[in-house]
Amino acid sequence: MTDPLAQQRALVAQGCRVAAARGLVDAVLGHLSLRIDDEHLLIRCRSDTDTGVAFTRPSDIRLVTFDGTAGAAGELDGYRVPNELPIHVETLLAAPQHRAVAHLHPPAVVAADLAGIALRPIYGAYDIPGAWLARGGVPVYERSVLIRNSLLGKEMVAAMGEAPVVICRGHGITSAAGTVQQSVLQAIAVDQLARMSLRVRAAGGTLRDIDEADWDDLPDLGSRFNIEAAWRHEVARLSG
Ligand SMILES: [Zn+2]
Repeated sequence: MTDPLAQQRALVAQGCRVAAARGLVDAVLGHLSLRIDDEHLLIRCRSDTDTGVAFTRPSDIRLVTFDGTAGAAGELDGYRVPNELPIHVETLLAAPQHRAVAHLHPPAVVAADLAGIALRPIYGAYDIPGAWLARGGVPVYERSVLIRNSLLGKEMVAAMGEAPVVICRGHGITSAAGTVQQSVLQAIAVDQLARMSLRVRAAGGTLRDIDEADWDDLPDLGSRFNIEAAWRHEVARLSG
């Protein structure tokens, strides 16, 4: 029997591998999800043959209900739902445009936040989508807890507000978007901002927002350029 969710499982697994290849997760920590309908999501689960996020297989992506039970017969046979499922469910419930959620532990982002650095638009054409994302602000959920129940999930979502990404202090990030690709690319953009901020600080520099007048000439080049081309590159890196 063919699996009607095969393509989506493959995409979520690919997203996990891309995030790991970019150093946004270590070992077995971190997970991606994709909403299927009002009650179900695909999410990366663990098993006794799990070798880490960098090696996520489509079969590691399982169909789960929003309350964490098997989404269909056999979906959780041998698989364990992440403790932090509420991160995904509460983020998906918070906004209908959220269909994909990436929860990752990028060390540069955690370090920058712990160093007291707020991620700001310190560059422009270097990475236009990243600059715009920073312009809107990257909020911080100030608790370092394991977000393992809906109460904590709701707290994190409240801290996130209207932003696409929230930093979880001493923990990682949650990135929400309409597609798996966008959720991971946003996470990469935030990681790049953090890395550059740390570099500037390490070089003895001061972090300053780019000139207000520059925004007029930092156009949104459209999703075909920004997302499709960027994703092709990320996928190509995996096999390089
Ligand atoms: Zn986590």
